[in-house]
Amino acid sequence: MTITSFHHLDLAQELTRALDENNYKTPTPIQMSAIPSLLEKRDFLGIAQTGTGKTAAFALPILHQLFTEPRTPKPCTTRALVLAPTRELAIQIADNCEIYAQHLSLRQVTIYGGVKQKPQVQAMSQGVDLLIATPGRLLDLMQQSHIDLSMVTHLILDEADRMLDMGFVRDIKKIMLTIPKKRQTLLFSATMPSSINRLAGSLLNDPVKIDVTPEVVTVRKIKQTLYKISKKHKRALLATLLQNEEISKTIIFSRTKHGANRIVKELEHEGITTAAIHGNKSQTARQKALEAFKKGEIRTLVATDIAARGIDVDNISHVINYDLPSEPESYVHRIGRTARAGTKGSAISFCDEGEGKLLGLIEKIIKFQIPLLKTPELLKLEPLEKETKERKVAVKKKTNNAFQKSKIKKQRTRLGKNRR
Ligand code: AMP
Repeated sequence: MTITSFHHLDLAQELTRALDENNYKTPTPIQMSAIPSLLEKRDFLGIAQTGTGKTAAFALPILHQLFTEPRTPKPCTTRALVLAPTRELAIQIADNCEIYAQHLSLRQVTIYGGVKQKPQVQAMSQGVDLLIATPGRLLDLMQQSHIDLSMVTHLILDEADRMLDMGFVRDIKKIMLTIPKKRQTLLFSATMPSSINRLAGSLLNDPVKIDVTPEVVTVRKIKQTLYKISKKHKRALLATLLQNEEISKTIIFSRTKHGANRIVKELEHEGITTAAIHGNKSQTARQKALEAFKKGEIRTLVATDIAARGIDVDNISHVINYDLPSEPESYVHRIGRTARAGTKGSAISFCDEGEGKLLGLIEKIIKFQIPLLKTPELLKLEPLEKETKERKVAVKKKTNNAFQKSKIKKQRTRLGKNRR
């Protein structure tokens, strides 16, 4: 039988109702292949990136099992644990699970670092059905005895490659030691380097393997183009391109946090609404920027690779690679921010004199030569540095004048007092 609807998947009626209400009509390929095996409690290895529907692929069968085999969780324990590399991804998974589980009355908690631990500890104290966590804060709370993983029956590692890249391997190993061996384990990764192969070998028991190759997902739907441009002209090219109003909801990628801040400054200088998200920004600042971007209050979001992983914002019209990523796989993740859930999208990359080698690696991975565009005539822009310097001098002059004036005023007052 071909699966054309969620109603063919033997999911609890409470789940399919939530899917209907949220306009999920047809399962995506990874959902069609994962859900039946996961309902049979098989272990699972999914090679898939965000945008493929992988969250629902693991969340629906796990929520189904938690709902149809109800148990009251003991204090501080959880029955299912989802590990995610970043706070943004953890929040996004939690938001999706809340939607799917809206008719199930299960307890769900999300924990991540960068915010106060007390509300998280309180939420965990009664025990939960589903815990979504980043490894660092989870381990921290476990070490303080606020979380006990001895009742976990379902474990999901999402974006495992990114967790290893971010140096979580030790935390993950420590966490694994506390989870019972008898469990269902799911591992999702966008890429399959040997480190992930080893991790999968040590955690999974005879898993079902599904590969939703990212190239197929991205290359087909996303219009990709390239400008060869010298580093010093990238700013003017960006400003010129953003004159086109069709480039509406856009993520601009920078290789470094410092570079992201500089791009934000430059865009603000051009009067373009923007904000940055990267590891040096507080959790509140990141969430605020993301919310403003989602609501369309800002037109552009400037991000580094790690911060952008897992961002799920609808209708992103363009991804601009201001710098090419140092890891070629990140190109696929970056451009996957657009053209989500069947919509169209464009990815524009800038390649400067030092990035030719990176471009070669990217094109090898995507098995495709990105079409080169002729550089448009660039806006004649005053260098920002010069403008900033000039402004600084003007501000200094103004401050000095104000200081002199207040000094004279004070002297006059003193003189007046002395005269009296
Ligand atoms: P994910 O790959 O899990 O990050 O999902 C990407 C986006 O597609 C999210 O906004 C989901 O809500 C949406 N989505 C996932 N599966 C479906 C589906 N079968 N029908 C419609 N939208 C979906």
